[in-house]
Amino acid sequence: MTVTSESLRPNLDDYEGTRARFTWDQARSLLDGLPHGRGLNIAHEAVDRHAAGPRADHVALRFLGRDGCVTDRTYADLRADTARFANLLTDLGIEPGERVFSLLNRTPALYVTALGTLKHRSVFCPLFSAFGPEPVRQRMQLGDARILVTTPSLYHRKVAPIRDQLPSLRHVLLVANGSHEVTRREPRTHSFEEFLAAASDTYVIQPTSPNDMALLHFTSGTTGTPKGAVHVHEAVVAHNVTGYYALDLHPDDVFWCTADPGWVTGTSYGIVAPLCNGVTTIVDEVDFDAERWYRVLQDEHVNVWYTAPTAVRMLMRAGDDVARSYDLRSLRLVASVGEPLNPEAVVWGERVLGLPIRDNWWQTETGGIMIANCAADEVRPGSMGRPLPGIEATILQHDERGVIVDDTCTPLEVEHSDTVGELALRPGWPSMFRDYLHEHERYQRCFAGDWYLTGDLARRDADGWYWFVGRGDDVIKSAGHLIGPFEVESALMEHPAVAEAGVIGIPDPVVGERVKAFVMLANDVEPTEELRRELIGFGRKRLGAAVAPKDIEFRDALPHTKSGKVMRRLLRAQELGLATGDTSTLEPNT
Ligand code: ATP
Ligand code: MG
Repeated sequence: MTVTSESLRPNLDDYEGTRARFTWDQARSLLDGLPHGRGLNIAHEAVDRHAAGPRADHVALRFLGRDGCVTDRTYADLRADTARFANLLTDLGIEPGERVFSLLNRTPALYVTALGTLKHRSVFCPLFSAFGPEPVRQRMQLGDARILVTTPSLYHRKVAPIRDQLPSLRHVLLVANGSHEVTRREPRTHSFEEFLAAASDTYVIQPTSPNDMALLHFTSGTTGTPKGAVHVHEAVVAHNVTGYYALDLHPDDVFWCTADPGWVTGTSYGIVAPLCNGVTTIVDEVDFDAERWYRVLQDEHVNVWYTAPTAVRMLMRAGDDVARSYDLRSLRLVASVGEPLNPEAVVWGERVLGLPIRDNWWQTETGGIMIANCAADEVRPGSMGRPLPGIEATILQHDERGVIVDDTCTPLEVEHSDTVGELALRPGWPSMFRDYLHEHERYQRCFAGDWYLTGDLARRDADGWYWFVGRGDDVIKSAGHLIGPFEVESALMEHPAVAEAGVIGIPDPVVGERVKAFVMLANDVEPTEELRRELIGFGRKRLGAAVAPKDIEFRDALPHTKSGKVMRRLLRAQELGLATGDTSTLEPNT
């Protein structure tokens, strides 16, 4: 019997009850652990335990190649491929704990490298393949890269020129990927395919402590130089259970996470969480393209789709008719992360996809989803949702200098609902980062009393839903008001002419800061002075004069990080003629 998507009961259908009963020990017991009590290893939970059971022949990953080729790998295939890679690392003399970097497109080699590295107990650090030589050098140096897996063309363009600046780097493996790219053989540079074929396809995972370092993820660099967040094997406990609760993964689901593994979302939810839950995951090598994405959703019968606000905004810009020409009825849940999701986008989802888009909130540092609009909940457009079972969140009192503490240095929680303050979490969930690599003091500064400080400002309503206000650094202080750029951007986006907006504060002698908006217009809308005035009036009507932008500037595109976030600090620097700071994650042509 085929179970239709609609008849599936959400995994988290009793929020209060599940939260009250939930313990992380119980979440741990959903996983197998290594045989004979030899610890906990992400690759075992994601791959080997399925390969040893009835799901062995279930498609784990389906790759949609740039060239139109579709490649399926079952859980059994993945077990063999990743065993080969783990053996290859041993043969090359790589030790557990050493860093294995990848600089690859979303091709099978990337996923084999990720999971084979975890099997071997060395540390996986994925780099986004669009990085130029400088960001690659910066991250590989900071991460003490021992081995790099990349393609011949990426190697020659981005790594060869800086290889002599990477003293820790011992080997480079080049993935030809069936192409005939000429590989100039250099010392300690090998063929990925040849080495993999020569390695054995069986591998027994050695004892792994849950606290062994597993993943190194660099943050998006939205607010400054990217930090290297350290995660451990125990993170898999959170990846598994948050995939189950927040993404509502069911065993026969087809799941698609559009994020690249170069960002934490693409690893936690593009690799680990779905595989742990035993589902089929779609991996598309091609970047955003509205028609292609709708076709993938339709042809692959995607049930659960995890994407980002910026992609949703681009789909909205492409127009409703494009969406309507595809059959999207397989979709059961659409979720989004990475940036605030404008209420307009939630409503658009309902109208065009037939489902609200469910926002959730987390960070590279938290390793997994913390706050979410779950499948069984009503969606409150504009809200990030409620903390997942096992996650204790709060709002701390906050002033110009930061979190307010009492005489005993204990941070004070806000007393009333809807008060804006710093979003904080009680440490103790398994995917919590354990350090910023080589920046331990910076890591320590993230804690106050018993709380982890997220750096984001938010408020909680009387029913316990959380609402994002802004990053601490982006919030605008104007005439005694604390203005979140998100609120202003969302209001502007309600105007049909606006496709995307970025809002910043400009220093002002009278009010402290004055609100300015940069606006990208919808397709075919002319940037006229009349429209500019209309938008200023529209903002004032929606937000009131104190919060509305005083000034609006049209831009053909807004600056984004490569992971798709609006870089407000760059808008501010450009506006004020300041140094632009670290732009290693800036998406070109934005
Ligand atoms: P950096 O720390 O280098 O400045 P970054 O904070 O953008 O970059 P990430 O860890 O990728 O790096 O992003 C996490 C941040 O993204 C959160 O702290 C928050 O500011 C923002 N974010 C993520 N999800 C949401 C959401 N649902 N709503 C609002 N903001 C979100
Ligand atoms: Mg951050």
